Amino acid sequence: MFKTARLKLTGWYLLIIMSVSIFFSIAVYRGSTLELGRGLRLQAVRFTSREQPVFQIPLNGPIPSPGFDVTLLEELKRRIAMQLILINIGIFAMSGFAAYFLAGKTLKPIEESLDEQKRFISDASHELRTPLTALKSEIEVALRDKNLDLGQAKKLLNSNLEEVDKMQALSNYLLALDRYQSNKLKLSFNKVKVSGVISKAGEKVQKLANKKDVHILQKGRDVEIMANEIGLVELVTILLDNAAKYSQKGKSVVVSTHSDGKNIYIKVQDFGIGIKASDIPYIFNRFYRADASRSKTLVEGYGLGLSIAKSIVELHHGKISVESTVNEGSIFTAVLPLKQQTLLVSNVTL
Ligand code: ADP
Repeated sequence: MFKTARLKLTGWYLLIIMSVSIFFSIAVYRGSTLELGRGLRLQAVRFTSREQPVFQIPLNGPIPSPGFDVTLLEELKRRIAMQLILINIGIFAMSGFAAYFLAGKTLKPIEESLDEQKRFISDASHELRTPLTALKSEIEVALRDKNLDLGQAKKLLNSNLEEVDKMQALSNYLLALDRYQSNKLKLSFNKVKVSGVISKAGEKVQKLANKKDVHILQKGRDVEIMANEIGLVELVTILLDNAAKYSQKGKSVVVSTHSDGKNIYIKVQDFGIGIKASDIPYIFNRFYRADASRSKTLVEGYGLGLSIAKSIVELHHGKISVESTVNEGSIFTAVLPLKQQTLLVSNVTL
């Protein structure tokens, strides 16, 4: 599909270039042959009567004297035409290569974004298929059981509910991704106290933290930042949720903040399973999950949290990074500017 599009675009580029080139060639041909004719006529007139001034020599018209060699003029016209044709053939060949190259360059980002979209759809449907298949087979087995009693039915419904919860979580992640990654989003930026953000995020992960006996500790001074509060709470929630998810029971998670007057540094440190160096470059990619989290510890997730976190940080013109050692723990650091550019603050509304 992209090959044909590339060829078509090359054709259009060539058509434009060649139209311009042929137009100029015709203009050059006409101008130069007229001047040439006039020059030859002038020479012929001078040859016969030496007094006639140059401006009185007509560009066209009858041959003024026997000294004017019409075959010479025709020969010169032919030579000019041949040269212009050769030049146009050269331009056609060169611009053909250039147009093909440029068409490739123009189409590359479109091709990449289409590939990305295809990958996204296939990943998302793959993730949706697992809970859907489980749901379907559980219901089918129950329907075939003629002696299904109330207790078994309730057990089945509870299990169904778990699968529905998983799908709901996935759709929430997908919606959040769309919200933060699409350009349609218009965020409002207000003054936000970071301590409030951390408390709200802490409340959201408290259930998981309690389940895993993980203690969330908060350190550092409170800082006020120009930010989108909902986005910031979501960012810290994702980092805290991961820290709790990938921690061993009874460990602590430390959230610390400090500012250098220009930026705020939000660090979330855990003492959990850590991340292999080979996985680190990919963990912010959509649907990427390191093997350790897939198989060894069987931690639930879709590999979408960190890509949402990255989008939120980028919307705030910040950066997110990670340092990690396997079996020792990880430190995720989000660096956000304290103030956003005026343009961003005034242009955006929620
Ligand atoms: P999820 O946690 O749902 O799998 P994320 O996008 O949040 O998806 O994280 C991507 C991957 O990065 C995880 O699967 C896990 O392998 C790794 N990861 C993220 N945070 C941590 C952490 N605090 N400790 C260890 N591994 C982590």
